[in-house]
Amino acid sequence: MHTQPASPPAFIGIDIGGTKTLGVAVNGNGDLLEEHVLPTPQGAAELIEAVSSMHFELSERVAQCSPESFEVLDLGIGIAGLVDINGQLRRAPNLVEVDGLDIRPILESKLGIPVHIDNDVNCAALAELSHGAAALANNSLLVTLGTGIGGALIVEGRVHRGAFGMAGEPGHMIINPHGLTCACGKKGCWEAYASAAGLRNLAIDRAQNGQLQKIIDRVQGDLNKVASEDITQEARRGDVQSLAVIDDFAHWVALGLTNCAALLDPELVIIGGGLVEEWDLLGDRIRRSFDELLLASTQRNRIPVRPVENGKAAGAIGATLLGRQR
Ligand SMILES: [Zn+2]
Repeated sequence: MHTQPASPPAFIGIDIGGTKTLGVAVNGNGDLLEEHVLPTPQGAAELIEAVSSMHFELSERVAQCSPESFEVLDLGIGIAGLVDINGQLRRAPNLVEVDGLDIRPILESKLGIPVHIDNDVNCAALAELSHGAAALANNSLLVTLGTGIGGALIVEGRVHRGAFGMAGEPGHMIINPHGLTCACGKKGCWEAYASAAGLRNLAIDRAQNGQLQKIIDRVQGDLNKVASEDITQEARRGDVQSLAVIDDFAHWVALGLTNCAALLDPELVIIGGGLVEEWDLLGDRIRRSFDELLLASTQRNRIPVRPVENGKAAGAIGATLLGRQR
């Protein structure tokens, strides 16, 4: 009897973000085979459908790879939310429709393969650990500056999950109790100052105090329309007041990093998220403020602050590792 030789394994990782869902397929060495991206749909049923069809599409593509055809063994999902130690999604405040919906059993019964779920930044940390900025550091901190702030703690070479799986949420450390209102409803969270939303908040505050005429002109006076790119673009053009907002922003980022460092004593801080694309504008400013604010900065080892190495696909690439690390 003729039998087909077994296909080598492939692993699919899907990163469900607030606006985009990015899927990758990798081989056993972690080499990228296929990539697929679509806007994150509204609605729980639509999201389940989108993830299933993305999985199907990527599985089909790797099965038709030449000269080798791959067989998908499992699916890993990174999601912007609180995932408990058992891989159950508990809260996803930026994905309102699936907030509190446990999507893993739904997907497992739909797809007929094991599905593993973790927080998106924990997934990105796995990618940075396996081949990225954290590969040579035993103790490091990953902070993503995007719409909000995400975090992952790497302790003794592993992603530290905490007692219930919810460690590493530094965005909601309160750094100014009477300050700006955060998306979570509380006042003065780090995220309200040091995310893309925070950058916007800082600019709006200055514009309301008679500064930032260039930004006000860009949005024709409607401050609700200010986006973080308005500030970074004007800063790049040399607008002194926009650069002052960037300095202010970098200070708030560094302030939160200093609090994290006081608790963790990391050997390295890695910055990811959408704002990492502005690293040329932000990197040196964050480092300078961080060095100034850090306790005993001249007596202790310097803590480098570096951007992620896996870029936008870090969460999806890390999600492919979930099944193999558990
Ligand atoms: Zn908050």
